[in-house]
Amino acid sequence: MRYISTRGSAPALDFEGATLAGLASDGGLYVPAAWPSLSSDEIAGLAGLSYADTAAAVMAPFVGEALTPEDLRELCVAAYGRFDHAAVTPLVQLDPSNWLLELFHGPTLAFKDVALQLLGLLFERFLSTRDTHLTVVGATSGDTGSAAIDALAGRAKVDIFMLHPAGRVSEVQRRQMTTVLSPNVHNIAIEGSFDDAQAMVKAMFAHQSFSGRFQLSAVNSINWARLMAQVVYYFYAAVRLGAPGRPVAFSVPTGNFGDVFAGYVAARMGLPVARLIVATNVNDILHRALSAGDYSVGTVTPTAAPSMDIQVSSNFERLLFDLHGRDGLALAATMRGFEETKRLAIPQAMIGQASELFTSARIDPDSMALAMRGAWENSGQLLDPHTAIGLAAAHAADLPADVPIVTLATAHPAKFPDAVERGTGQRPQLPARIGDLFDREERYETLPAELEAVEAYIAERAVPITADA
Ligand SMILES: *Cc1c(COP(=O)(O)O)cnc(C)c1O
Repeated sequence: MRYISTRGSAPALDFEGATLAGLASDGGLYVPAAWPSLSSDEIAGLAGLSYADTAAAVMAPFVGEALTPEDLRELCVAAYGRFDHAAVTPLVQLDPSNWLLELFHGPTLAFKDVALQLLGLLFERFLSTRDTHLTVVGATSGDTGSAAIDALAGRAKVDIFMLHPAGRVSEVQRRQMTTVLSPNVHNIAIEGSFDDAQAMVKAMFAHQSFSGRFQLSAVNSINWARLMAQVVYYFYAAVRLGAPGRPVAFSVPTGNFGDVFAGYVAARMGLPVARLIVATNVNDILHRALSAGDYSVGTVTPTAAPSMDIQVSSNFERLLFDLHGRDGLALAATMRGFEETKRLAIPQAMIGQASELFTSARIDPDSMALAMRGAWENSGQLLDPHTAIGLAAAHAADLPADVPIVTLATAHPAKFPDAVERGTGQRPQLPARIGDLFDREERYETLPAELEAVEAYIAERAVPITADA
């Protein structure tokens, strides 16, 4: 499988190259040169497979020659062996037509573990045969950081520098990052928003005199391998609810458009997806984009669902690429305009095309709280705020009664105990394995939201590319 950039001018790479690179050198994102497909028989054949075996089968066409089928399966067994539920991503039924897909049984209690546990192993595998030391630089609104740090802590030939917006991640989220004291883990609290942090990471990649000195890589969902790993659970859940014979809808609490884009990939591969519901909070750029073609940046409002407090959704570019007929140079021009003006009017024809699969909903704090309380009172389930936004959007979607709707439960409620207690009167408990989080020592550096300061901090600590490598 070859990977091409959404902006049409970076060199094509194989799976290994795309995994290690993250962002493409022309500022675009890597996508497969063509979407692979699974036949109905192949999808039916996934029924009853373990999660790891499903993962190996769904990801094989994307991995191509980069790993043998045995090696891929072995990595999946190792990655998903660290989850604390035998089904890895279990389905829980709420009512006759609504299910939760619990994606939070990994080490850091959010869905990002599903992709990052695998990505950490892929990095280690690909680096083992190269004379390369990787410098991972990322920005996090909370959950990516802890999941990436857990996946990379202590691994050979990798350093990770993780930027989070100071004071704008929950205490559990912060501690999950800052209490990992491995020497290859570097936490940076940025005096600014998540968007400031993410913009700095993008600027560092584009800044040749900085990025040329290090082998930089990304673990944000701009990294293709992450999205690939997330495609798996759409298949895993849908097959258990009757696919390929029966279409299934998914409601996805969305920030960077990564998780829901993985659902789009599953649909492109042939999974019968009745609908993808893009659930946003009041930071609603994606809802405005998909409902009215208005992809324009507003100011970020902090909410109880911080992982969705985003006004620029990096992965939306991957959908725009397909909507532009995969014309990378045309999209590059469009994105240059967007980067200058912070707004993009999406043509009606493209919105029409997207709306064949996507709908969207903007969920305000009251509807979120109502969904959270309803799930507790009617079904005995505690939902974190992100998941509650997904469920509220599922309720708002106008779908035929016989279509099962799966809401992706993206975080464990104990990651957001204050919001859950406000909504339900119940204080969720951290699982025993991380119950001592509040007693652990923390380590992090606070820096201003200035590119120079952050680059200097990283340059002092990262391993540069050696002249002979
Ligand atoms: C990251 C995150 C999201 C948003 O996922 P995207 O892939 O960025 O759309 C939603 N919920 C939780 C709990 C998250 O950690």
